[in-house]
Amino acid sequence: MKTWRVLDLIQWTTDYFKRHGIPSPRLDAELLLSHVLGTSRLQLYLRFEMPVFPEHLSTFRELIKKRTANVPVSYLTSRKEFFSLEFYVDSRVLIPRPETEVLVENVLQVQEAPCQLIDIGTGSGAIAISLAANRPEWEILATDISAEALEVAQKNAVVHQCADRLTFQQGNLFEPLETLPESRFDWIVSNPPYVSTKEYPFLPPDVRDHEPETALLAGTDGLDVIVDILEGAPRFLKSGGRVGLEIGHNHCQDVLEIVQSNSAYSGCQVITDYSGIERVVIAAVG
Ligand code: GLN
Repeated sequence: MKTWRVLDLIQWTTDYFKRHGIPSPRLDAELLLSHVLGTSRLQLYLRFEMPVFPEHLSTFRELIKKRTANVPVSYLTSRKEFFSLEFYVDSRVLIPRPETEVLVENVLQVQEAPCQLIDIGTGSGAIAISLAANRPEWEILATDISAEALEVAQKNAVVHQCADRLTFQQGNLFEPLETLPESRFDWIVSNPPYVSTKEYPFLPPDVRDHEPETALLAGTDGLDVIVDILEGAPRFLKSGGRVGLEIGHNHCQDVLEIVQSNSAYSGCQVITDYSGIERVVIAAVG
């Protein structure tokens, strides 16, 4: 029987993924193999010559099969790095994206004093937990329509030791706030669903067929949830409070119009992501 070394496996799998149209074949091969071997990608590089045991080979083979069926790597390894923290993820939540780090970064930059913040549609908890980890004195509430997603977020809060500083509430948009006695915040942040029904069928199959539809889809132009948040937010913000939202690649103009036509808002800032796309808006109430 052929002895497979780490490097042979990486090369074989990269080639196999390439033939199956997987967009980042080498990276995915490395991530999956390091996951199976319980090691880091760096360690993999230091052990190129090491033979791989048959039991690891069969686990690896299963993962290769799933990856070529377009299951995202993060669901296969149950992890995704976001804002330099490692998050547990599974198919109950959207996999955190690097674009969303732009939102977190800007909230941290703009807000200096301790504050009260709500993260609507927290999913894996990526936004709320990275803020809590960087600002232990902030009071943070994280909500989601999906009870399943909140289980994942809670797990991540425990891992990152901020479970005692975060409150989780299940419910749609502002619904959880209706029952709270003091519901005025300095910040309302969200990475809401914003994919249009037109674009949804053309999303990469990893996303379209495996990530939760409720975390992605938002009506014919993808603006349904963004509009609801911008309309509802002023009622729950303190004077001078802000809404920080991630938006879709073609939403900026519409979002600016929505904010400018609402007299509760006094201003709006737009921030581009690493690809130069207008990705985050921060709107302040007067
Ligand atoms: N950026 C995500 C995607 O391209 C969408 C995330 C969202 O809808 N909030 O799949």
